[in-house]
Amino acid sequence: MDKLYIATGQDPLRMTLDLLNNVHPLKGKDKDIKIGIKPNLVCASPASQGATTHPEIVEGIIIYLQQNGFKNIRIIEGAWVGDNTKRAFKVCGYEDLSKRYNVPLVDLKDDSWVTRSYKGLDLKVCKTVFDIDYLINVPLIKGHCQTGITCALKNLKGLIPDSEKRRFHTMGLHKPIAWLNAVIKQDLIIADGICPDPYFEEGGRPANLNRILLGFDPVLMDCYAAHILGYKPEDIKYIKLAQDEGIGRPLSDNTRIINIYEPDHQDDTRIIQKDKKYLKIVDEADACSACYSNLASALEQLNSMGITEKFADQICIGQAYRGYKGVLGIGNCTSSFKIYLPGCPPKTEDIIKFLKEQSNDQT
Ligand code: SF4
Repeated sequence: MDKLYIATGQDPLRMTLDLLNNVHPLKGKDKDIKIGIKPNLVCASPASQGATTHPEIVEGIIIYLQQNGFKNIRIIEGAWVGDNTKRAFKVCGYEDLSKRYNVPLVDLKDDSWVTRSYKGLDLKVCKTVFDIDYLINVPLIKGHCQTGITCALKNLKGLIPDSEKRRFHTMGLHKPIAWLNAVIKQDLIIADGICPDPYFEEGGRPANLNRILLGFDPVLMDCYAAHILGYKPEDIKYIKLAQDEGIGRPLSDNTRIINIYEPDHQDDTRIIQKDKKYLKIVDEADACSACYSNLASALEQLNSMGITEKFADQICIGQAYRGYKGVLGIGNCTSSFKIYLPGCPPKTEDIIKFLKEQSNDQT
C-alpha cells in the first residue's frame, strides 16, 4: 500500500512535528549521517505570498532531528535565475532559523558542480548534493505557468547550477526534470500546502489549502499536488515521464492518504484553475522560469486592465530567439528584435510599463 500522510490546520510548526512524530521516518538511521534540507526558496518573497516554503516547517524538521540526536544538518538551496539565494534566505526567515538552531545555510549558486549521466544525457548537479547522506525535500504544492504545477519532482531543479537551469529550458523542461530525479534520490518529502499560489510560481495569489503532506515517493506526492491544484496527473508531462523511469508510482486505488488528526476524514478540496487565455499572445521558446513567470504575471495584470486585447503582434520570449530577428520581444535573448525589453530576466513592473507603452503605440 502506497501512503501519504497529511496534517491539516494553520500551525505549520506543530503540524510538521506531529507528522514526524507520527511516522518517525529516520528510525534506525545512523545519527552521524549528513542531512540536507531543501526548501523551495525560488525568490525572495515571504511564505505568506505563496511562493516559498514556510520556515516553520523547516524549523519543525530541525527540532525533530535535533531532539532525535541528528546534528549534522544543513539547509541547501539555489534560487531561480535572476534572484539571489542569500537575499531569499534573509527575506524568507531562514537566516534567523540558521542562527537560532546553529544549522548552516548553503547557497548552491556558490557551489561547484559534478556531471552525472542518465540514459546518455549529461546533467550538471551541485557538488554538495552528493556530499549528503539523506535528502529531505520540502517543496510547495504550487502552480507553475509553464509546467502547470511544481512540487517534489521539480523542486530538485534548485540543486543544479544556473547555467544548467537555463539549459533545462532549452530541453523542454519536462524530460530533464524527470531525468534529474533519476540521478538524485530524495529520501523524505514534506510538502507545504499551507497557502501556496495555485497559478504562478512567484506567488502573490496565496490560497488557503491549510495542509502539510509527508511521503517518500515524489511521483505520488506530485500526483496528489496535481489533483488538488485542479489538474489530472497526466496533464503534467514530467510526472508521467518520472513514473515511466521507475522513480515512483501514481495515485491509485492502492494509495492511502492518512489524515493524522482525522483518519476517517475524506478530503475533497480542489482548486479550479483560471483560464489564462491572455497567454495565447505569447510565443515562448525555451524561456527561463523567472522570465516567463514575470511576463505571465505582467499579462495577468494588463489583462485585468483590458490591455492584452490590443496586441496585434505575438510577444516573443525565450533563449531560442537569440540572434533571431522579430518584432516584439521580452528579455535580452530577443535583443535582435525590432522592439525588445532588456533584462535577464526583466522585472514584472518593467514588463508592464513596457507593454503599456507598446499598446499605446498600437492604438
Ligand atoms: S532573457 Fe533569456 S536567458 Fe535571460 S532569463 Fe530570459 S529567457 Fe532566460
